[in-house]
Amino acid sequence: CGIVGYIGSRQAYPIIINGLKRLEYRGYDSAGICIVNGEPFLAKQKGKVSDLENFIGNRTLEGTIGIGHTRWATHGEPNDTNAHPHISMNEKFIIIHNGIIENYGLLRTKLEKRGYKFYSETDTEVLANLIEYIYLKGNVTAEIAVRLALTKVVGAYGIVVVNRDDPDTLIAARKGSPLVIGVGEGEYFIASDATPIIEYTKSVIFLNDNDVAILQRNQMTLKTIYNQSLEPNIQQ
Ligand code: GLU
Repeated sequence: CGIVGYIGSRQAYPIIINGLKRLEYRGYDSAGICIVNGEPFLAKQKGKVSDLENFIGNRTLEGTIGIGHTRWATHGEPNDTNAHPHISMNEKFIIIHNGIIENYGLLRTKLEKRGYKFYSETDTEVLANLIEYIYLKGNVTAEIAVRLALTKVVGAYGIVVVNRDDPDTLIAARKGSPLVIGVGEGEYFIASDATPIIEYTKSVIFLNDNDVAILQRNQMTLKTIYNQSLEPNIQQ
C-alpha cells in the first residue's frame, strides 16, 4: 500500500524507513526494504515498520540506493514470504508493487510452462518474473524489459524495480496507483504520495498512467511504456 524509493548520495536506509512510517496512515500488514550497495540487502516481514527496524537492529546498512514497501495484501495472505520486495527467480530483478495485476494467473501459467518457479502467492512475483523472462529471453535492457512487461499486464500498479546488473539505476512506473518523484540535487525520491518527500525537496513530478521514470543520480528519463519521450512537468 506504500512505496518509498531513494537514489542519491545520502544513506538510503533512514530515508526509506522514515518514509514508510509517514505512509503508515494508509494501512498495511507487512513491510520490507532493499538497500543497494553494489549487492542488495533485503529484509521483509509481516508486521509493522517498527518490527522491521527491530529485526534489522543495529546492523549498519550502508548504501545510497534503496526501496521500501508497506503491503496491503490482495493476493496471498499476509506473511513474510508474500511481503515485498520480491526477487525474480534468477535474481536479476527486485521489485516492489502497489496495486493488482488482474491477469496474473494466466501470466503465471505461461511462465511456469517456461520453467519458472514461484515462492509466493502474489501477483507481484509474477510481474517480477515476467520482466526477467523478457530480459533474459529477449536479451534486452532492463528498461525495455520493464516496458514490454507492463504492456502485457492488465490491472493497476505503482512499481519500483532494481536490476542487479545495473545497481545504480531505479526504474519506476505507474498505472492506476499513484507515484510521485521528488527531484533534488543529484538525488531522486519516489513515493506513493508526497508526504515522505516534502522534508527533502519541494520539487515533485506526479507520474501519469503508463509513465516510466528511469532514475540515475544525475539524470532522469521520463517516457511512456510505449517508448514515447516525455518532458517532466516539475511542480512546486
Ligand atoms: N497485490 C500486491 C500483493 O498482494 C500488492 C498489494 C499492495 O498494494 O500493497 O502483494
